[in-house]
Amino acid sequence: MKHNTHIYLAAKGIEFLYEGLDNLHYAASDRKAASATITKRRREGKILQRMLMHYEDVISEATWAPDDILNDKAQYHTFKLYTEKEFPNSVRYARETHQGKYYRVAGGGGLPYKVDHLARVLSDMDKLRKYNDRCSMNQIMYQYLLISHYIVDAHVPMHCDLRDDPPSATDTKKPRNGHYYSNELHGEIEQLWEDAVKPVAIEEGIIKTKRKEDDSKPTDLSEQIQFNVINDEHRGKIRPYVIPDNDLMRYMIDLCIQSKERALLLFPIAAPLKWNKSLFPKMTREIFAQAISNLITVWIWIWGEQ
Ligand SMILES: [Zn+2]
Repeated sequence: MKHNTHIYLAAKGIEFLYEGLDNLHYAASDRKAASATITKRRREGKILQRMLMHYEDVISEATWAPDDILNDKAQYHTFKLYTEKEFPNSVRYARETHQGKYYRVAGGGGLPYKVDHLARVLSDMDKLRKYNDRCSMNQIMYQYLLISHYIVDAHVPMHCDLRDDPPSATDTKKPRNGHYYSNELHGEIEQLWEDAVKPVAIEEGIIKTKRKEDDSKPTDLSEQIQFNVINDEHRGKIRPYVIPDNDLMRYMIDLCIQSKERALLLFPIAAPLKWNKSLFPKMTREIFAQAISNLITVWIWIWGEQ
């Protein structure tokens, strides 16, 4: 995702942090504890929301730092999966296998590992803050916003699809018996989201106008990315989750697999460049709703750990 989209989604995660928790979902096995936990999580969410709002002035920088200052895109913003469907008989290229049939090549991005690691560092920072005041709430809130970048990127179908990364002429680590699509398509689709988001984010005061081209009009897609906490229908779409078995890493891997499946719908196997434009608006709505929901899911998981 691009800069304004990251800012917008983090701001929406904060906006829906309290009301969204009213919709907290559980794995079937966890149901017994549901109502007591919802009340507890909502109480925690209310405080976290207040804290994040207090640090709203750093959203723009913190949510974008991973693409900009840290610049760890190649290592940690993606989780490039492939299956036998797009690359038959290519298991030998797999470094890892997930859910039995999703393969990841060497160097195929470690997004779920980064989220898991950052979440644990954040939890440690809070323990240190309480113990010897070596970490400040200011630093901790910055990290909450920073981790949002990686969580949001997990929802981008191209980030979880090996076909987005064609091998170079000398690359022997990727299968070649299938169709890749170019990086151009990746940028094009993220730009469609960015163009849809920008006018809405400016209108809502989430981002400020800084350049003459910021005077943009809503696009055909703008309606799909709008979420307002006072709208019943929008609230219904925000469904955070209690992470099953407390296994954040597994949760993030499963999320990347879901994005991979979306990539298979969006970019047909035989001709990925002829991407499915008719499906795109509906999928955009789902992706944005899920990204906001999962920001709340992971934030509250970290906050509850403390
Ligand atoms: Zn990124």
